[in-house]
Parts: sequence; C-alpha cells; structure tokens
Amino acid sequence: MKPGDNNALKVREEHCDGCGVCRDVCPFGAIELNFGYPHVGEVCTLCGLCVKKCPREAIEITLERKQVKVSAASGIGVFIEHDRNVIANVSLELLGKARELAERCQYRVFAIIVGNKVDNLIETVTHYGADQTYIIKHPLLSRYSPDGYTLAVCKAVELYRPSIMLFGATPLGRDLAPRVAARLGTGLTADCTELNVLPDGELIQVRPAFGGNIMAKIVCRYHRPQMATVRPGVLKKKVREASRNRSVKQVNITIKPEEIRTRLIRRMFERTSDGINLENAEIIIAGGMGMGAKQSFGLLEEVAEALNGIVAGSRAAVDAGWLSHSRQVGQTGKAVSPKLYIACGISGAVQHLAGISGAENIISINIDPRAEIFKVSNLGIVGDVFEVLPALARELRQLAGGKAGGGSHGSD
Ligand code: FAD
Repeated sequence: MKPGDNNALKVREEHCDGCGVCRDVCPFGAIELNFGYPHVGEVCTLCGLCVKKCPREAIEITLERKQVKVSAASGIGVFIEHDRNVIANVSLELLGKARELAERCQYRVFAIIVGNKVDNLIETVTHYGADQTYIIKHPLLSRYSPDGYTLAVCKAVELYRPSIMLFGATPLGRDLAPRVAARLGTGLTADCTELNVLPDGELIQVRPAFGGNIMAKIVCRYHRPQMATVRPGVLKKKVREASRNRSVKQVNITIKPEEIRTRLIRRMFERTSDGINLENAEIIIAGGMGMGAKQSFGLLEEVAEALNGIVAGSRAAVDAGWLSHSRQVGQTGKAVSPKLYIACGISGAVQHLAGISGAENIISINIDPRAEIFKVSNLGIVGDVFEVLPALARELRQLAGGKAGGGSHGSD
C-alpha cells in the first residue's frame, strides 16, 4: 500500500497536485495532507465525496464490490445473532417472518451462523424455520468483530446469493448490516416495522420516515440482496416446530489476523437504572400526557401490581420527567410485544404505535373518542383515566381478594 492509500481508497500520485480539496470536503475529517499528498485515515467511510470533488480525478475507490445479480438471487437469509451460545430473540423473530414471506414467494429460508463453537445453535434455528443453515466457523470469529463478521457474512452471501437478507436492529446488527450492504453494493433499510413480499420476491420494507410522520414503503429493485434490519420485539416469534429436519452446510473461510483491525479487550454490562425488561413483559400498563403529572403514575402502579404487569409510557411522558427512558415505548424507545398493553391517556402518535405493533391485545383509555390509539385497540374506553383507573384497580383488588377468599374456604 502506498502512502496516501487506505485499503479501499487509492490516491493516484501522478495525478494529484496536493490542492487539498479532498481534505476540505471530507465530512469525516479522514484526509490529511502529508508532504503535499493526501493520506486517508481509518475513519474513511468510502462516502465518495472526495472522489467526486477532486479536480484532477486523482482519487478512486478500489474496493471490489461483490454484487449479487438480481436474476441469480433466491431465498431469504437471516443472520443469527448469538451471545455465549444463546440465540438473540430477534433472530428467532426474523426466522418466523422469513418463513411467512418465503411461503408467499416460494423461497427457502437460510440461517447464517458465524462463530467458532456454534454447532449447538443449528437445532434451534431449524426448529424456528430455517430450511438450510450455513455455518461459518473460525477461531478468529469466536467473538464479534466488524471486520471478521463482515467477511464471513459476505462470503456466505456471495456463495448462496439470497434475494433477501435480514438482521436484527441490535447494536451488533446495526454495526454489521451496513458494512455488509456496502461491501455487496446493495441498499439497506434500517429499523423496519413491517416486511411484506410480492410473489416475485420483491421485498416491501416499511419504516417510519420524515420524523415518523409517514410510514414509507421502500423497495430495492436493482440490487441484491434486499437488506433490512428489524428491531427486537416488533415481530412475533413463531411457535417452535421440533419436527423440522436440519440441513447444514459448512462455509470455509480464510481469515488472516491482520484483516481484523479491532480487538475486543473487555466486555462491560450496563444495568438499566431500574432493572426492568419491557421487551419481555407480558402485561404493560402505559401512561401518556393524559396522566397529567408524575404523581398520577401511582394509579398505573396499582393496576400493574394487581395484574403483575410493568409500567411504561410515551415519549412525551418520559420527556416530562415522569418516567425513566428505559420505560419509553415507541420508535425511539422500546418495541414491545406483550399479551396485553393498556394505554392510558396516550394519543396514539405513529411513533408510539411503531413500538406496540407486536402487542397481542391493546386496551386504551382516552377522553377523546377520536384519539388515534382507538384505531389500533381491541377495546377502547372513552373516559377519564382518573375515573376509569381507580375503578379498574378496585375491581382487580376485589377479584384477587375474592379468589384468595374463595380458595381458602374451599368454595368453587
Ligand atoms: P399526547 O399526544 O399529548 O396525548 C395525550 C392524550 O391523553 C390525548 O389523546 C388526550 O385526549 C388524552 N387525555 C388527556 N387527558 C386525559 C384524561 N384525563 N383521561 C384520558 N385521556 C386523557 N413518542 C412515543 O411515545 N415514543 C417514541 O418512541 C417516540 N419517538 C419519536 C421520535 C420522533 C423522531 C418524533 C418526532 C416523535 C417521537 N415521539 C415518540 C413523540 C410522538 O410524536 C408524540 O408526541 C407522543 O407519543 C405523544 O405522547 P402522548 O400520547 O403521551 O401525549
């Protein structure tokens, strides 16, 4: 590599006159002039602005993009995220969605597992919907590294050419998926809230756009794979089918240590401030601005206690300081999939609804009969939370008391 190059951007010294335009236009500050020549640093994202603006056409992107032809692509790939031999729930949710889409367009579902000692994960991905598992094992892949995993996933995609490739919108998926998309010269739709497919395999990727004011349907017509990330909890996990037969292929890969530029030194786990886990809650009682004040959340606590549920809220309630951010539901909060979601004094803005599309049942209480939340509710109560909630808490207490009383007296 000559001075001035990084591994994907090349500066042609014979053309460069050291004018510095590339350095000035780079939005990431990745270019410095060393002895009159541009030196491209590690933070370069290959955005291509310097290539476009160079008056002497002295810079070129040399990264070889292994594009998958549209006509050659088939099947749905799901990247299986795992940690300490446990598969992330979102990967199982994606497998379920992939199965559903595959049936509509006669595709097969592939699971892509990257790691070192990961054979024990094959059975689970098969039971949750994979027709075929591609497993890429290497000692250098025993822990996640952006470079190693990008190489591995790209290798599997080049070999098996899925038409659709899905990732969880987790911190890992959000790091990995854009890298894979850039390497393969295809697009990526992040944080989808719904996925549909046409019979010819065209993926309709739905996500909030323009600050959440519209739900955009995005397609990727001319490149493959069509890539999307989906947040945990947005999709429903399908029932495990233990009768499915496994089919596994080992993908061989050569990785040199120097190809992995980052090294994990230490893992630190952050506890959420209140230790709650909204994503896995079965019953959620959420409050919005209609609750009027922080103190009124005591009413929600009472109902939550009676139902063994968890209290959450809208972003407006969180912004007002009534709840911690870890309890925010919605586009910029958590996506939840409880059996029951009770929305109290929440209007039903599209950004809030983006977080509750996975809820099985929604009950809402709102004084405004035209509130948007009623459109997605199984049961809507037009009423004042300060009348409805105390009455509900009273009923639940009585029910619980009745049960306890009935049980102790042996009555039916
Ligand atoms: P409001 O919209 O003010 O609604 C209050 C409701 O309470 C009204 O419907 C009213 O009729 C009802 N009400 C009032 N008094 C009573 C009463 N006594 N009894 C019963 N009902 C009563 N929002 C989220 O929730 N989550 C997100 O993740 C999120 N992300 C966002 C991201 C972006 C980029 C943007 C731009 C916005 C985001 N928002 C999010 C904000 C969202 O647009 C709404 O502003 C917010 O959801 C409104 O919260 P709310 O329903 O509590 O308040």
